[in-house]
Amino acid sequence: MNVHESEKLAGILEGTGYSVAADMNDADIIVINTCTIRQNAENRVVGNLGYIKKLKEKNKSLILGIFGCMPQADGAAQKLIKRAPFINIIFGTHNLYKFSDYLKRALEGEKVIEIELESKVVEGLEVKRTSGINAWVNIAYGCDNYCSYCIVPFVRGREKSREPQVVLKEVEDLLKQGYKEITLLGQNVNSYNGIDSNGEKKDFADLLENIALLPYKFRVRFMTSHPKDFSVKVIDAIARHKNLPPYFHLPAQSGSDRILKLMNRKYTAKHYLGLIDIIKSKIPDAGFSSDIIVGFPTETEEDFDKTLELVKKSRYHHLFSFIYSPRAGTKAAEMEGQIDKKTVDARFSKLTELQTKIGLEIAEKQVGKTVEILCDTFDKDKNTYRGKTENGKIVSFTSANNLVGEFVTLKVTKSKNSNLIGEMLSPH
Ligand code: SAH
Ligand code: SF4
Repeated sequence: MNVHESEKLAGILEGTGYSVAADMNDADIIVINTCTIRQNAENRVVGNLGYIKKLKEKNKSLILGIFGCMPQADGAAQKLIKRAPFINIIFGTHNLYKFSDYLKRALEGEKVIEIELESKVVEGLEVKRTSGINAWVNIAYGCDNYCSYCIVPFVRGREKSREPQVVLKEVEDLLKQGYKEITLLGQNVNSYNGIDSNGEKKDFADLLENIALLPYKFRVRFMTSHPKDFSVKVIDAIARHKNLPPYFHLPAQSGSDRILKLMNRKYTAKHYLGLIDIIKSKIPDAGFSSDIIVGFPTETEEDFDKTLELVKKSRYHHLFSFIYSPRAGTKAAEMEGQIDKKTVDARFSKLTELQTKIGLEIAEKQVGKTVEILCDTFDKDKNTYRGKTENGKIVSFTSANNLVGEFVTLKVTKSKNSNLIGEMLSPH
């Protein structure tokens, strides 16, 4: 989501006549796109301010903008400007479309601080795409779920879906331009609820199906899926269409029902594992990944063991584990029983160790298989190409020709860490 918003900021700047600086030291405008999901993301922003202050002392006309979720939290914009009065523009994600106006005002010497809290759908922004053969496409903004640890609903506002025909048109235009992978974005894509021009409601499965029917060779990925809203209709659509690869990022957050309830996730471990079983029964080759939070308030060893159990049963290809970070204003930050750092660190290591073992086992099982990958990267240092299988495993291989953007059939010959090495079968 953030990468795509940076692409929109860059698109607006290009539209105003600017181009990308080779180095931050040469820039006339620096915009930091901030994140507030965990404290360490905020620390990185603050860590950069000191350096930019020095750049501004050398170059008096340098404009510094702070964009994104961090200044949207209650009172955060005022705190930021107090700490770094040299900031020229502070604006939130809902003000993105007004960036060129803010820039104009800042260039005239005004200090601009504008934060709107309600999400709105603004169409027609220029985008400077930066992710190679992949294009990000928003399908919904905001979130209504209020998981008790999460700041997103407070900074991103209520959930709003884009109109299905507008999404479809954007995807088709991107495919015409040659993009080979489309990643649909929403905090909870499964609660997508678009209304098309005839007033007809379309859910996420309908949208996926319509995109899959576009007559191009491409893949559609999406994130993120909330397990409480994941429907069998979506699984069936994925099982039916080859261009909807069977890779599911399905964040579990915890394996303990007690903790899931405190997190306000609205599902149980049994429901979650049942979902994984349904997917595996319909798509035996499906790949899974997940997010887990370690050290949520009151988490006991017993709760954590249940998380380890869930991870063992789910067998994720990739796992993103996070140490719980209290966010001011959320319910969890007020809860008694915050867990001490030593306990959390020990649990985090245990989880990492388990996932590393599972990742290696899954990778080893792929050896000997024939897979189709979409080649997305050339690694200059290693002189190898890289791409992902349909179920999300990374495979590297060598080729005399440039194959970035091509679908390539490979035989997996080896596994290395949790990644794979393959030999090309086609194209030759
Ligand atoms: N909308 C997505 C997640 C967006 S945030 C979803 O519901 O899956 C990405 C991940 O950050 C979350 O899945 C969660 O694991 C983690 N996260 C969110 N708030 C956090 C917090 N306060 N501390 C630690 N991790 C957090
Ligand atoms: Fe945060 Fe939960 Fe919304 Fe995801 S679904 S953004 S974790 S509140």
